[in-house]
Amino acid sequence: AKQQGGNRYAFFTRNLQVAASLRISLETELNKAIANNDFFLTYQPQINVQTGDLYGAEVLLRWNHAEHGEVPPTTFIPTLESTGLIGPVTDWIIRNAISQWQQWIQAGHIKTSQHLSINLSPKTLGHPDFKAALLDLRTLPTEQKKRIHFEITENLFIDPENNIDNLKFIKECGFQLSMDDFGTGYSCLSYLKHFPLDCIKLDCEFTRDIINNPVDLAITQAVINLSQDLHIDLIAEGVENEQTLTQLKAMGCKLIQGYFYSKPLKSSAFQEYCQHLKSC
Ligand code: C2E
Ligand code: CA
Ligand code: CA
Ligand code: CA
Repeated sequence: AKQQGGNRYAFFTRNLQVAASLRISLETELNKAIANNDFFLTYQPQINVQTGDLYGAEVLLRWNHAEHGEVPPTTFIPTLESTGLIGPVTDWIIRNAISQWQQWIQAGHIKTSQHLSINLSPKTLGHPDFKAALLDLRTLPTEQKKRIHFEITENLFIDPENNIDNLKFIKECGFQLSMDDFGTGYSCLSYLKHFPLDCIKLDCEFTRDIINNPVDLAITQAVINLSQDLHIDLIAEGVENEQTLTQLKAMGCKLIQGYFYSKPLKSSAFQEYCQHLKSC
């Protein structure tokens, strides 16, 4: 058993070394990506199913890698977080997304009343770059700021002492807060009591299978009711087919994001999507 334990130890050490060197090369590559401007933004439409209009869009980061093509964010965001690169990258995302959104408003593609949603990692919240970006944006018209959402995850509330002030700062600057991946994290319902959220995003883990799974159906219905009673917007995520959409509508869900309507789109394609919606 001892021998086996030793082997296992060697195995773990080797794996850790591989993991560490992969991480370093990924870090090097991410630094290059920042320098070369290899990131770009996509926009996934969010639809109000009662009116058929665009409610807004979520900004999703993409990395255009010279060899590997489009690299999904789940593979590199953890490294951006662990290296602190997430600070400057988020700063870039916020400034770019908002300036693009303003161009669309000015060009008449987007209405001021439509929403823009930006993801925040917990690591970003207290980051000086993030605060600086928010302060720079203070001069945006109030009407625009109140349609800009920052999406946070429940994991943030593991450390509520430090984060509540940071969240209040976002609200004081005039922006909105959305709870991403609702129901998948730690603190469940208590933050709804302690913190003024403007929007809940119900994770696809619950919506994906409501047609077949009565437990998912019950949870989804309960969250829809809760959002209505609290007068908080609710966006159902990961809606891929018409059956799920029809079911959600029947349950009183108004706002939908998912492949059924559209995948995340590059800016030119998103602009076309908006034009197309208007002509419907
Ligand atoms: P998320 O914030 O939960 O974003 C939703 C993810 O679900 C996106 O994946 C989106 O493309 C995908 N999705 C949307 N509709 C559907 C659908 O109908 N079916 C399925 N199966 N998936 C759908 P994506 O773009 O790969 O992003 C993955 C995660 O990476 C995001 O999850 C978020 O946690 C993180 N992320 C992406 N962009 C950013 C960013 O700019 N900043 C930060 N901090 N995190 C980001
Ligand atoms: Ca999100
Ligand atoms: Ca989500
Ligand atoms: Ca997610």
